[in-house]
Amino acid sequence: MFKKVLIANRGEIAVRVIATLRRMGVASVAVHSEADRFAPHVRLADEAVCVGPAPVAESYLDIDAILAAVRETGAEAVHPGYGFLSENPEFAAALQREGVAFIGPRPEHMRAFSLKHTAREIAEKSGVPLLPGSPLIVDLDDAMTQAGEIGYPVIIKASAGGGGRGMKVARDEEDLSVALATARSEAGAAFGDDAVYIEKYLEKPRHIEIQVVGDGRGGSVHLGERDWSLQRRHQKVWEEANSPALNDEERARIGEICARAVADLGYSGAGTIEFLYEDGNFYFIEMNTRLQVEHPVTEAITGIDLVHEQIRVASGAGLSVTQDEVRFEGHAIECRINAEDPRTFVPSPGTITHFHTPGGLGIRVDSGVYSGYKIPPYYDSLIGKLIVHGRNRVECMMRLRRALDEFVVDGINTTLPLFRDLVGNIDIANGDYDIHWLENYLAAKD
Ligand code: ADP
Repeated sequence: MFKKVLIANRGEIAVRVIATLRRMGVASVAVHSEADRFAPHVRLADEAVCVGPAPVAESYLDIDAILAAVRETGAEAVHPGYGFLSENPEFAAALQREGVAFIGPRPEHMRAFSLKHTAREIAEKSGVPLLPGSPLIVDLDDAMTQAGEIGYPVIIKASAGGGGRGMKVARDEEDLSVALATARSEAGAAFGDDAVYIEKYLEKPRHIEIQVVGDGRGGSVHLGERDWSLQRRHQKVWEEANSPALNDEERARIGEICARAVADLGYSGAGTIEFLYEDGNFYFIEMNTRLQVEHPVTEAITGIDLVHEQIRVASGAGLSVTQDEVRFEGHAIECRINAEDPRTFVPSPGTITHFHTPGGLGIRVDSGVYSGYKIPPYYDSLIGKLIVHGRNRVECMMRLRRALDEFVVDGINTTLPLFRDLVGNIDIANGDYDIHWLENYLAAKD
């Protein structure tokens, strides 16, 4: 096992990785920008290295600066968290050249899944169900032909896309030219790559993703699904496991398909295979080759520490569980607490004057702040996550309501009021929502 691991990240995820390292008896190294000197992950790690000024390009995304911190501290492995360098194959390859382990998949797998159209090709070969779609689009004529074959409505998607950008829906031929041009220019501006393809657009799907972990040697497990159909601008707001929409048979079937695909690829580490789900069918949309923000809901229902599994696999120790040993117990929900206005979602950095987290049976808070902490304006607005577990969904919702009432964050705006509102909603109580539910609900309130 590694003796020392560097965490190339900040905020709640750096704190969360440090917790597992500490439990495993592995020393931790934090990296931080000048703006993050007083951040919790810096205080909690065994060592900390300043890697540059506040802007991410000059600190958390600066591969040379992170490599220098690795050399200086003698870390044997790097955990990238999520975001930042976590899906950057050049970073993983650079570490490999230094003889340092990257706690994540091999660079070639990261590369293959970073483009959605190559991911589709791999999924298709691996027997994972797909939405009808096109190869990369050449020009408007080509788009017309492809969309005609697929059947309207269609969605034009940036192959390099992420974070919901570079996606445009076309309901008919007339929409297509504007949608194509907008998707291309958005993709070019955001990702420096304007390649797009077309996919069938589903009207009322749920978004369901399967957690997998591969050992890199042909072994793998799936840890069930997470449902994040409650989303805003294609971004997650509320995540739960199990999905209120799936039964045990469907879970086992899609889980086995994913686990087999990952094993056949020789994939190493944690990954998430994302699907849209409609009328009992799953359709692959992309794979994320990293730990996800919402991984704690999976940890809650399986009792398996995903960071521990990631570290074991990267060190060559293999997985600690077999598929037969994986059990899904009860229900879990995660709410993302963002430093944002709960109505406009405009970021709200500033000083947290009082921070009190709920506790008790079935309650977990992963956070990267404390009372008196000044949130710097340079980074993501996620300040923490509330994860609640119950023996069933009803108990989980009751506990969630109580936990939300106890949660105090003073001095800044947060999304807590939104969750207090949602937890009392009848559709949410019934688990009766699709990917458009939240936006429709927010629009109706305005
Ligand atoms: P990103 O990588 O930008 O997050 P995804 O492919 O994961 O994009 O899709 C994010 C969200 O976009 C989905 O949860 C869904 O709301 C919407 N979406 C993507 N593809 C489709 C589709 N074919 N039909 C309907 N909605 C879609």
